[in-house]
Amino acid sequence: MIKRVRCHFSGVVQGVGFRPFIYRMAVLHDLAGFVQNRRDGVVVEIEGSDPSIEAFLSDVRKLLPPIADVTRLVTEESPVRGDVEFHITESEAEGTADLHITPDAATCNDCLGELFDPTDRRHRYPFINCTNCGPRLTIIKTVPYDRVNRSMACFPLCPECLKEYNDPMDRRFHAEPNACPACGPRLSLLDGEGRLSESPDPLESACDKLREGAVVALKGLGGFHLSVDAGSDAAVKRLRSRKYREEKPLAIMVKDADFAGRIAEMKEAEMRLLESFQRPIVILKKKEGAPVSEEIAPGMDTLGIMLPYTPLQHLIFDRGFTALVMTSANQKDEPICIGNREALVRLHGIADFFLVHNRDILVRCDDSIAMTVAETPVLLRRSRGYVPKPIVLREPYPEILALGPHMKTTVCILKKNLAFLSPHVGDLETPQARDFLEESTDLMYKITGCRPSRVACDLHPGYHTTKTAHGMEGVESIITVQHHHAHIVSCMADNGITGRVIGISMDGTGYGSDGHAWGGEFLIADECNFTRQGHLSYFPLPGGTAAIREPWRIGAVLLKETFGDQWRDYARKLRIIPEERYYPLIDAITHREINSPLTSSLGRLFDGFASLLGIRGEVSFEGQAAMEMEAAASGCPAEPLPFLIRTGEEGDLLDFTPAVRRLVELRLTGSPTKSLAAAFHLCLAKAFREMAERIRMATGLNRSVLSGGCFQNRLLLEGCLEELRDAGFDVFMHRQVPPNDGGISLGQAVSAGARVKAGLPL
Ligand SMILES: [Zn+2]
Ligand SMILES: [Zn+2]
Ligand SMILES: [Zn+2]
Repeated sequence: MIKRVRCHFSGVVQGVGFRPFIYRMAVLHDLAGFVQNRRDGVVVEIEGSDPSIEAFLSDVRKLLPPIADVTRLVTEESPVRGDVEFHITESEAEGTADLHITPDAATCNDCLGELFDPTDRRHRYPFINCTNCGPRLTIIKTVPYDRVNRSMACFPLCPECLKEYNDPMDRRFHAEPNACPACGPRLSLLDGEGRLSESPDPLESACDKLREGAVVALKGLGGFHLSVDAGSDAAVKRLRSRKYREEKPLAIMVKDADFAGRIAEMKEAEMRLLESFQRPIVILKKKEGAPVSEEIAPGMDTLGIMLPYTPLQHLIFDRGFTALVMTSANQKDEPICIGNREALVRLHGIADFFLVHNRDILVRCDDSIAMTVAETPVLLRRSRGYVPKPIVLREPYPEILALGPHMKTTVCILKKNLAFLSPHVGDLETPQARDFLEESTDLMYKITGCRPSRVACDLHPGYHTTKTAHGMEGVESIITVQHHHAHIVSCMADNGITGRVIGISMDGTGYGSDGHAWGGEFLIADECNFTRQGHLSYFPLPGGTAAIREPWRIGAVLLKETFGDQWRDYARKLRIIPEERYYPLIDAITHREINSPLTSSLGRLFDGFASLLGIRGEVSFEGQAAMEMEAAASGCPAEPLPFLIRTGEEGDLLDFTPAVRRLVELRLTGSPTKSLAAAFHLCLAKAFREMAERIRMATGLNRSVLSGGCFQNRLLLEGCLEELRDAGFDVFMHRQVPPNDGGISLGQAVSAGARVKAGLPL
């Protein structure tokens, strides 16, 4: 009995070898029909015997190509047409756009084999790729994903490549970026002024320059990297001083997983993450005496490590390097460079040489960053390799555009039950970063094929994103979402949960509903609303933003809140105030409440404790003090510091003055910094547990959701997971989107979508 079935596949099904795969499966099972790319996925019609169709469908589910991901499959019977062959038909440009563009993928093992095979025609060709690997998102202009719509359009295929491209049994069948030395892109080396090098082998010359200690800009997948030899203190220092990046850790790329294991401790889950086709930078615990420069991550006990993911990078490592610094090529707070000319201008004076090529990068996409917590990968920056794969939500929502907060921004579009997040845009401190926000919004319009008339943004009236929302044309409604509520909803969406939860949002700072700088919040929240059930006791930030750069100011305030007028004695004994003249200044501005905004931020509390511990009185980037506290505490046994919960009109207030008192006593009697830093971490986990237990008593809620930038601190996150699980809570943490502000746009979008759906006033 002959039947015809129409299958509609949605998900990551284009540009991943899905059609050739379907073709091969159909031929294998003796089925006729066709496969076609649509704007809303892939349509397959198969005609043949019932058992063959069953076997086909089962094999398709089991044997999917490595990067493909089917999120939905709808099948229906259709009238038999008497087809005798199976074929691949032209893409159809019509239909509603619901297409999943694929993220870029690391060079696959088959291609690597060919890359280093002297008899292969692509031997040492830096742009080798196939349907299972290579650039995708970063070379796309519009959908659907065909060569005419990509930056490969200017490289007509040579006869041999064309043959592969048209042969359904070939690994490069319809591999859109397919290329070879005869027809594809090529490398060139430019000096700092943009002059072309005469060298017959630009790659070898670039490697020579790296060996000599030069800073070389390398064109990658989603942008340029600045690279230096990671073993050379002098070279790393040179890069730091030119980039005005004094201490912030730099990512390194290492030859292979073996070498990663030599310089860092690595568990099974971390190894899998490191070797995944997404190839994120993985935060790993550094081994003592690792043969890389101390200048790479001063003060840290971790290294951000990734493996080569482009053929060019593999070729560079094949020339004898073990570890290279690979940091995004940009100036502070500017987006990553993608164009050759752009790089020459913006990196002038930073890079000594530029190893470029003539395949355009069309989408800026920084490296992603990840860590593992309790064997589970957690993304800290979601970009290359992951974007634009959508987050699958538990239920459908109306279309929403969310613009994110101000720092670590991403843009999110909600469409049906999918949330599409943009590449990492970053801090919106420069005009270039603001242009990038616009670029990313346009990209998301293109990818989703929709232009939502409802826009979600932060509550902060002064944020660039808030102003952008108000300045957009054709906007029907603007929906504001409080920063920490957005964090919690983001984590709920990340875990596919809905309904009321206990939200624990521990963060830097975000604009609170009362106008203060929130950041240590205990919320009862659902997607639509929240109540603030408790928070860290407010403390003033003397000097406002100056206190963020100079944690000693917060240390002084904590002493003042704890010891009253005696604070000066303790500050002198601890030697935390840099100059004598600051004593009256701190008194004056906190007493008269001048330029001393109140905050409940845990991030700032970390800063204050770091100063009291003598770890750091000034920082060169946000989060530095907390990172060094974590590094100091890591692996050190300790007793938790005491804390206090006060019940007031504003709910339960978590008061750490007892912790300050104990810490100061212990420090003055010679307790080691490491154990005090550990004692602080333990105290926080205990305190959060007790706060959560109180909320559970009052409400009966048992799900607790952890979000906010402070949960990038692995020690804190693990401690909280342990305490809360021990108390019987169902605990949810981030996995697919970052706990930091990179996940805010998702929370904004889902909260706004839920409010629209529920018919609540906006
Ligand atoms: Zn490949
Ligand atoms: Zn070719
Ligand atoms: Zn935040």
